[in-house]
Amino acid sequence: MSSALKDIVTAEADSQETQRLFDAQRKRALVLRTSSADERIAKLKRLRDLVHERTRDIYAACHADFSKPAPEVDITEILPIVMEANHAIRHLKNWMKPDRKRPTLLMFGTSAEVRHEPRGVCLIISPWNYPLNLSLGPLISAIAAGNTVILKPSEMTPHCSAFMADLLADVFEEDEVAVVQGAVETSQHLLSLAFDHIFFTGSPAVGKIVMKAAAEHLTSVTLELGGKSPTIIDKSADLKTAAQNLVWGKFANNGQTCIAPDYMYVHADIADAFVEATRKALEKLYGKRDKMAANGDYCRIVNNKHHARVQGLIDDATERGAHMPIGGGANSDDNYLAPTVLTDVDAESRILDEEIFGPVMPILPFTDVNHVIAAINAKPKPLALYVFARDNEFIKQVLANTSAGGSCVNHSMVQFLHANLPFGGVNNSGIGNSHGHYGFKAFSHERAIVRERFSLAFLFLPPYKGFTKWFIRF
Ligand code: NAD
Repeated sequence: MSSALKDIVTAEADSQETQRLFDAQRKRALVLRTSSADERIAKLKRLRDLVHERTRDIYAACHADFSKPAPEVDITEILPIVMEANHAIRHLKNWMKPDRKRPTLLMFGTSAEVRHEPRGVCLIISPWNYPLNLSLGPLISAIAAGNTVILKPSEMTPHCSAFMADLLADVFEEDEVAVVQGAVETSQHLLSLAFDHIFFTGSPAVGKIVMKAAAEHLTSVTLELGGKSPTIIDKSADLKTAAQNLVWGKFANNGQTCIAPDYMYVHADIADAFVEATRKALEKLYGKRDKMAANGDYCRIVNNKHHARVQGLIDDATERGAHMPIGGGANSDDNYLAPTVLTDVDAESRILDEEIFGPVMPILPFTDVNHVIAAINAKPKPLALYVFARDNEFIKQVLANTSAGGSCVNHSMVQFLHANLPFGGVNNSGIGNSHGHYGFKAFSHERAIVRERFSLAFLFLPPYKGFTKWFIRF
């Protein structure tokens, strides 16, 4: 491990230092405006190759921060970063080509195109729950689009932040990419600067703070937020598959995933069977209950504060009468919390109101899907909505009558891994998209350019002869 990683910096960064970096990046951003696809691709390749070379350091940093198991690091940190880089490397030349537009009748005799120009100096603020993936993923899009970036990772995963500072310093000069470490105060210094774009991933509450700060400079924003993602399991569903895919979605990363299935509506006819299928799936994926804490594939909650918060949600629900057919083990020394399933959850319980962000699965039985749809529509629009069914009409009804950032049918979370799909929320769960071409576009300004050749525009010049009326009628 490099020396930078041993010396973990958790202090707030100084505002003069952030201003200095920002000023340096302003100058560099002007130079990068004309950077070629080959130049950008060379940087992405170097970054990707270094991620490959330093996988051991990545495992160590993720383990030090929240005992994240190495195979989960492979699937949820390294794989998405490498896929994002490879996708951009493969398609960047095409994405950068001006998008020629056919003239309309009014614009006959002109040529027109949309150019994707770099936004300029960008700020990326990232969360702790996928500390590398959610920092380097957007960074790859920003570099592909020709920007400079100040990255402010989360203070809660300091080993991962220090690792990224070290890694990125090997690829970029600080006037192109700089990592600024710190917590709220640092974030707020940064947010006071006139960035050209802010890409924020985190909670809706902080998303609002970011958007207000951005409004001061009319800075554009991409907000990748969170919230409660509902899951609906119809009686026509294949229970074994549903349970297995939901156990993975809910308990991978210990439930600390923005798109984790948060709470489950299960058809009353199969609710008991679903609990049993979940028990079996848990044993299959993570082993017997008494061995679970020792299973190296089962992650931990990030810190004591969050451990107590999630335990508090369970306690509140059980005090209000919820049953716990699965669960009951916790150890605050290492932030272990056993996979927990709750049934008979009172509607007023906090666990049905707050984003859980932990290994707890509340099950709510239903008989009429229209009531489920109405309940979902009464809440803020979620980042993800999952539906499990074999009945196509049921699936169609749910998808057509709800709104969500993204959805999976008969799986959970894999929408994140599809490089050709946009990834983002809607209203309370986010604004704008990331990933692949959508990520490139998030970090680009779409500039419309019309070139005059022999158009009819002269007809609209004064002295007016009434040609406009002719066009209006046409
Ligand atoms: P958070 O909003 O608390 O923090 C995110 C970042 O914002 C951190 O870098 C933090 O230092 C900074 N920050 C915190 N308070 C701030 C303030 N008052 N002013 C300025 N900056 C501030 O989120 P978190 O706890 O790190 O992550 C969990 C949340 O993120 C969950 O809601 C989850 O759903 C969401 N999330 C969303 C996505 C997505 O892609 N949509 C991905 C991961 C996590």
